[in-house]
Amino acid sequence: MSESGRTRSSPFRRECSRWALDASRRLRYADRHLAREGSGGLLNAVRAGPARPRPRAPARYLAAHLRLTLQGDEVRHATLPVAVRLDDGAEVASLDLAAAYPVAVAPLGEAERAAAARTLQAAFRRAAPEVLGMALEAIARRARRDLLRMADYYASLDGEMARAVDRTRSPEERTRREAKRRLLPQELEARRAQLRDRLAARLGAELVAATVVETEVDACDIPVRRRTRVTTLVLRRRAGDGVLEGPACASCARSALHLHVCDDGLHPLCARCGRAGRLDAARCPACRPRGTRASLALPVGDPTAALRLGR
Ligand SMILES: [Zn+2]
Ligand SMILES: [Zn+2]
Repeated sequence: MSESGRTRSSPFRRECSRWALDASRRLRYADRHLAREGSGGLLNAVRAGPARPRPRAPARYLAAHLRLTLQGDEVRHATLPVAVRLDDGAEVASLDLAAAYPVAVAPLGEAERAAAARTLQAAFRRAAPEVLGMALEAIARRARRDLLRMADYYASLDGEMARAVDRTRSPEERTRREAKRRLLPQELEARRAQLRDRLAARLGAELVAATVVETEVDACDIPVRRRTRVTTLVLRRRAGDGVLEGPACASCARSALHLHVCDDGLHPLCARCGRAGRLDAARCPACRPRGTRASLALPVGDPTAALRLGR
């Protein structure tokens, strides 16, 4: 800054630059994190210029608790804590609220509400199978056991009926028994449908607690280049608990510090969603129109599927 610039700076300006200095010191680690390609931060892109620290500013978060309910032949519950950065809906590490104190905060705005709802849904879809893994595994075990029994039962019934047909002397009786045996596949299909209905589990979630948290955040803008295009990623550091946050993954919404950037839309994607960085428009999950929603599918080997009955 020039001599004249310094003499003219107001106390407010000085305060701002002190903040910026402070932030840049705090963010040195964060900055290094994204400093070099392959160093752990940027996975398929490079820095396109120096980090630009922003003045420390308050940021809003939602600390939410979801109650997950798995309703099948029995009911199971689990609790899922989710922390959402309301600015952009990133799912972030949980906030340490031990030293927090109550303040008056504005209720969620329209955009914040929408961002939080999207993120809670994404967190629910991702985490529910894990959180309720034991209960789901128990359902799968019961399904496997029942299907095995059914396979045994119908295989031996089919064998018995085949022998009964062979033993028959009268043509009418033979026709009758053959017809009965030919109905077996249908009967088995009905039994399998019953089993599916009985064990079909419905998964639901309700928001049982939510706290709006306001805390100070240091941030810096980091220009990043992917091939010929340049974008800006924002790194944040929560002043209260020192947690470092990256941009929201454009696919799963989780805050990520290890990032891929897609070719066309320059969407930031976490290491898991970034598919090894080969991210043309067809491969980037954020560029593609919304695909089919991942559903909860329990892999259960069905031994009855291979049964050939009534022939
Ligand atoms: Zn992701
Ligand atoms: Zn993209």
